[in-house]
Amino acid sequence: MERQFPRLEINLPHIAENAQKVVTACQQHGIQVCGVFKGCSGMPEIADLLRRCGCTELGSSRIEEIVRCREAGVPGPYLLLRVPMISELEDVVRWCDTSLQSDITVVDALEAACCRLGKTHRVIMMVDLGDLREGFWNHDEMVNACVYVEKNLPHVHLAGVGVNLGCYGSIQPTPDKMKSLLLIAHHVEARIGRPLEIISGGASSSYTLVHWGSMPEGINHLRIGETILNARDLQVEWGIADMGLHMDGFILKGEVLEVRTKPSYPVGQVVIDAFGRRPTYVDRGNRKRCIVGFGRADVGDMERLRCLDEGVIVLGGSSDHCILDIEDCPRKLKAGDIMEFTLSYNNMLYATSRNDIPPKFIK
Ligand SMILES: *Cc1c(COP(=O)(O)O)cnc(C)c1O
Repeated sequence: MERQFPRLEINLPHIAENAQKVVTACQQHGIQVCGVFKGCSGMPEIADLLRRCGCTELGSSRIEEIVRCREAGVPGPYLLLRVPMISELEDVVRWCDTSLQSDITVVDALEAACCRLGKTHRVIMMVDLGDLREGFWNHDEMVNACVYVEKNLPHVHLAGVGVNLGCYGSIQPTPDKMKSLLLIAHHVEARIGRPLEIISGGASSSYTLVHWGSMPEGINHLRIGETILNARDLQVEWGIADMGLHMDGFILKGEVLEVRTKPSYPVGQVVIDAFGRRPTYVDRGNRKRCIVGFGRADVGDMERLRCLDEGVIVLGGSSDHCILDIEDCPRKLKAGDIMEFTLSYNNMLYATSRNDIPPKFIK
């Protein structure tokens, strides 16, 4: 069988324009961009586009996605973004040029894996400056770990230091946070007697400092995915109006299954929904609504889907249904009609990972 909807359309020219804008702005500040393609589940077409648009390196959190792109012929170098499991280190050495690291036990095991395979591998050591995900917490311990890699692990090359912000702890990257990273880098450089190649200041949220012109000199590397692929967090959630990036790189098209006027407040005793949550419902009286044929299995959380039709409210849904309030939509919708949505990062992650939603590329 060949499914027609839901269908994912990927606007390559729009994503390319975003990549070029971001890369150019970073280059003007002496910053190279690692293009992060994990948000679109490792699509080689996107990885290739990022590389062609000036990203000097490609990054993913998953080795499988790096393998997929290498096998599709997309030139690296590749950076592994999730600090690796000891159980995957041989594949890290085989498939990735560089990895992020935050644990001495792991870098010791990495040295052993390199020896077994007769190869070398580059690492960026991570410090935690408050976001509370990966990274050394104590700054002396961080510096000592970098020196340890440099002096004791002949097959592991200390390429640099890095930080991640705005992921778990939603901590804003500031010039002060970047200066803390630079201070650590300088301590390491003084101890190892050579400059580090990479001082990696973070992800999309750190791009704000480039945009505002407040990135301290010396940060020379960012790892950017969302702002190129999706561009919604900074422009919509942060409210930065003058970035000029496309937010419609990924569009999901779905087919209307049912159109009907119903009460907006569920009738009966409210307990929990299909996902064990207790949603709140707004009573707007009777409203015209419709169901579109995709659900949380296709797009994850539904709240940040945006319908391209005016006046449509995404109410929510279940695994396979998306429920919309269309009372104020000027279009007269009926079953069989196609509705289009732009995706949030979370929606993109799910929609690109399904093999029953083959992407159609707009070239
Ligand atoms: C995902 C990830 C990035 C990219 O984040 P975006 O917000 O998509 O730019 C950068 N660094 C690390 C360590 C990551 O895991």
